[in-house]
Amino acid sequence: MEQPFIVKPGESISLIGEKKSRSSNHNPDNTGSYNKKDDTKKPLKKLHKELLELQEILYAENKHALLIILQGMDTCGKDGTIRKVMAGINVQGCEVVNFKAPTVDELSRDYLWRVHKSVPPKGKIGIFNRSHYEDVLVVRVHDLVPKSVWKKRYQQINDFERMLVENGTVILKFFLNISKDEQKERLESRINTPSKHWKVNEADFHERTYWDDYMQAYEVVLEKCSTEWAPWYIIPANKKWYRDLVITERIVKTLQDLKMKFPEPNTDVSKLTIV
Ligand code: AMP
Ligand code: MG
Repeated sequence: MEQPFIVKPGESISLIGEKKSRSSNHNPDNTGSYNKKDDTKKPLKKLHKELLELQEILYAENKHALLIILQGMDTCGKDGTIRKVMAGINVQGCEVVNFKAPTVDELSRDYLWRVHKSVPPKGKIGIFNRSHYEDVLVVRVHDLVPKSVWKKRYQQINDFERMLVENGTVILKFFLNISKDEQKERLESRINTPSKHWKVNEADFHERTYWDDYMQAYEVVLEKCSTEWAPWYIIPANKKWYRDLVITERIVKTLQDLKMKFPEPNTDVSKLTIV
């Protein structure tokens, strides 16, 4: 098992920013005990098999839902992670929700309204591609609402997540930590590869100029919202294969820790006859 990369409640976090003076103990290049992609293929295959079995018990037992939240800068690999995680599970028991800029209708409600109704039901795995954390990230970086409004949200988010957990939802939050240089390479590759042109989004190039502001906003999120009931994990994400391995491992471990059981049959199957 790789390092857990969990953020302890209240831990002080320093991510890599543009300014050289800022040092970080969260290295996006970290690949733990692995040196290359090939070495992770076998363990990843085994994890996918375990995940499929665990998902079946999750569905049969119908006691818990698993909510996986993915956050990170543009090109950090949220979509790729979803593809890899999905590869290991039965798509019928999984829901993916992408959170874009809120619609007029969504803006006329509280910011958690659209989130709450997207939480997976018991028996299922739900993946959020972005989430309510945007309401203290992009919203904070671009002053989309006054400070007096967003600063109350950290506590509101912790309370909301606690309520979900107390009602049977297990929450895992992954920050996909890439470096600014890695983002540059990924953006360049999108420009230079015709089959990736559909992914080119001018907004991503603009958001990149706010890199340090985002890192600061993420640091606050990680410090204030990693709780005992819904921890944050800082995933080294410069190497896609390591990111996939660490996240899949964490999901499998979390499901194992639930000590789930297939429910007792509701009829005595030994007495059933087939005519
Ligand atoms: P993408 O994930 O690349 O499809 O982009 C979705 C965009 O929606 C990103 O630029 C997010 O910052 C933006 N977005 C998501 N949630 C919110 C929110 N609550 N308020 C404003 N923008 C948001
Ligand atoms: Mg994008």
